[in-house]
Amino acid sequence: MSTRVKILLVDDVPANLHTLSQALMSQYELSVTTSGAEALALAEKNRPDLILLDVMMPGMNGLETLRRLRQTDWGREIAVILVTADDRTETQVFGLDQGADDFVAKPVVVPVVQARVRNLLERQRLRRELVRLATTDELTGALNRRRFFELGEAERSRVKRYQQPCGLLMLDIDYFKTVNDQYGHATGDNVLKAFVETIQGLLRQSDVLGRLGGEEFGVLLPQTEPQGTLELAERLRGVVETMRVTTEDASTLSVTTSLGATQLNTTDRSFDEALQRADTALYAAKDGGRNRVHSEHLS
Ligand SMILES: [Mg+2]
Repeated sequence: MSTRVKILLVDDVPANLHTLSQALMSQYELSVTTSGAEALALAEKNRPDLILLDVMMPGMNGLETLRRLRQTDWGREIAVILVTADDRTETQVFGLDQGADDFVAKPVVVPVVQARVRNLLERQRLRRELVRLATTDELTGALNRRRFFELGEAERSRVKRYQQPCGLLMLDIDYFKTVNDQYGHATGDNVLKAFVETIQGLLRQSDVLGRLGGEEFGVLLPQTEPQGTLELAERLRGVVETMRVTTEDASTLSVTTSLGATQLNTTDRSFDEALQRADTALYAAKDGGRNRVHSEHLS
């Protein structure tokens, strides 16, 4: 499951690229380029974990390359080490201001480069782990409530600014308390895990699933018209119905889900307002007999 860490090496002098490649190739998956412009294109395509970036290059130099990288959505998380013979204070300060994570002096000393890369990757790994812990629900791997609200608020702004549609679902596992009472909490947890896995299987990469609490979940569907939101809600309802979970005494158990569907509106003053609409719809679905979809203001 663990793929190799990807590093992009950028230097206008091929001999320097050769030295860096020799130093790092046994441990990392490398790509190389001699220009800043091509570095940006390669980074967008390959999404490296780290870039070793020469500062002095003809055309787009390293600092300009870094500046442009940090302006992209995908380039902010990439660790960058500037490689430079220019040790003037202003170059270093400017580099740090542009978002460099570290520096390596030229001519490079191989063990030093290896150590800096190792340290920076370890820091990056820890930071990613902290972010994961702070944003996901430990049991199911869905996003936690706080992160779901953050992304929901971001989607609401986008809907307002660009008039793009975004669907919103709230889901609740029917009679979940009975599952816990009858089969125990371990089986209840397995139902929650299977539920999330089943739902994720139908979602697109850009869709967002969050656990709002207990057996209640939310789904954000960016770029989705009302018709698409309803169709997906119905598909989710159907797939949950066919899901089977093994209990501790090796029998199988099935559950159903009720869904409330709505759209984020340009008039929503907060994400919470939209979520309350979905919640109202969810309660109507429960009242209507469960295992069904109900929609609120889906236009
Ligand atoms: Mg150079």
